Parts: sequence; structure tokens; C-alpha cells
Amino acid sequence: MGEEKFNIENAAAFVNCFPRGHCDPTIPVWLIQAGLSAKRFMTYSKREYPIETCYNLAIKAAIENPVLKDVGWFIFSDNDMILGEELQPWFSAEGDVVGVTYDMGDLNRTWGRSDSFHSGLWRARRDVLERVHAPWFDTVLTDDGCDIDKCCCEYFARKVRAYGYTITRAGWAGHGVSTGQQT
Ligand SMILES: [Zn+2]
Repeated sequence: MGEEKFNIENAAAFVNCFPRGHCDPTIPVWLIQAGLSAKRFMTYSKREYPIETCYNLAIKAAIENPVLKDVGWFIFSDNDMILGEELQPWFSAEGDVVGVTYDMGDLNRTWGRSDSFHSGLWRARRDVLERVHAPWFDTVLTDDGCDIDKCCCEYFARKVRAYGYTITRAGWAGHGVSTGQQT
């Protein structure tokens, strides 16, 4: 169990390149300038898969990668996030899982709680991801099971809280042209 403070030098970053399959180089460039080891930057893409499946496969790949076994924190970003100076508070924020506020279009109303979480850009400690086991992301259906009630981020947030961990949010990131997936 680590309670260590976030340090990007002890982190690995994964960019979700769904659905286009290529990674915007500005994200790794920015993270590496912020201190991330270039050897710990990875992309993942399963373009034909639902986005929650892509997220789950990325987390599984992250925590099971023997090369990353000593890494204490994992950063996950969507390919359409725009990182800049307004992200700085995110680096120092406390929390077991730390997200960031970004433009969600029609879903901006869902930022109402201080611990509201969406998966565009976030970080978590290794032990949190290991204990809050797979699947980390899944669809939240309506009570009758017929429709999607909440985005898959809400499933993750509920599960993290159910295990007694905290979700916080700090800083601001830009959000590029929508890929058609609001997450
Ligand atoms: Zn979401």
C-alpha cells in the first residue's frame, strides 16, 4: 500500500487513441517536459471496441506490465485533451484518484460535485487500481436495464468510492474537437 504523493517522475502515462488510432504528439511532449520519463509513455487503441473496453485494457496493460512494476502512479489521457498551464493544480492535488475539469459540452452540468469525475484525463495510484479490480469501467444502465443512464466514468467513480478511496479534481484541461465520444 503506497500513500506516496504524486510525482510524475514515478508515473507512467497512457494515451487512449480511440477512435483515430494515432496519438497527438503534443500530449507526450507536454508530459515529458513536465518530468515524465519518455520510456514510460504509451498509447493504446482498440478502435473497434467500446470506449470502456479500451480503458479497461489500458489499465490492465499498465498494472501488469513488468517493466512498470515499480511505477507508483498511472496517468490516463484521451487523445483529444489539451494540456497547458491551467493543469498545474492537478499535479499537487491530494487524492487517490485525481481528475481534471474540462469542457464536456452538454455534460458540463455533471461537474456539479467537487468529486465529479470524467475520464478524459486522470491519475491514480497503483494500489488503487490493483484493489479496485477489473472491470474498472462499465456502462451504468437505467434501473430497467434498457438504456444508458451514466457514462462509464460514473461506474469507475462509484467503484473507487465503494472501496473507500477518494476522488478529487483539480486544474483545467482543454478538450479538442469531439470524436463523437463524450467521456
Ligand atoms: Zn464521463
